[in-house]
Amino acid sequence: MNKKLFVISGSSGVGKGTVLKKFLEKNPHFMLSISCTTRSPRPGEVDGVNYFFLTKEEFKNCIDNDKFLEWAEFAGNFYGTKQKYINQCLAEGKDIILEIDTQGALQVKKRMPEAVLIFICPPSLEELEHRLRGRKTEDEATIKKRLDAVKIELERAEKFDYRVVNDDLDRAVKELEEIIIGEQKC
Ligand code: 5GP
Repeated sequence: MNKKLFVISGSSGVGKGTVLKKFLEKNPHFMLSISCTTRSPRPGEVDGVNYFFLTKEEFKNCIDNDKFLEWAEFAGNFYGTKQKYINQCLAEGKDIILEIDTQGALQVKKRMPEAVLIFICPPSLEELEHRLRGRKTEDEATIKKRLDAVKIELERAEKFDYRVVNDDLDRAVKELEEIIIGEQKC
């Protein structure tokens, strides 16, 4: 069976994490790639398990030495995937999934065109707007900022190989499984 690199992105608030968690529970031979980040560990996060936590200097050094397959700045922190780490995982025959943002995903596609990009979408922008407003936790300016960010992500998603609408969790997980299993057979 061919080992392919699967890249999953999705705008925040679409339940990407839940879809992915359920997929991994059902397909435990898949592993999530461990990214590097400059953000601080959250309680319970372990270096080398959840992320490789780097200083800004260390991260910049890796950029300067072209060590990253992709990297991006997200909410004031840097995130990146080491090329060597991915090469090793693929050489060891691991089934690997990258859960990264859309900017990073498009960089992966440029460097590794055989990578499969999958975007988890909200059922519709109207639905997402309705959900955000319904929570009544954000003010109007914040809601607008979040919706603008989602629109940019949806534009980038046009370049992805697949889009999975998360309208129903079980259905979305099943569709993701079908895409991944189908791609592994190609
Ligand atoms: P968090 O700080 O919540 O763990 O992650 C924030 C965002 O960074 C998420 O959207 C996640 O997909 C993205 N992310 C995590 N690792 C990487 C990476 O290696 N590269 C890129 N481009 N984004 C990443």
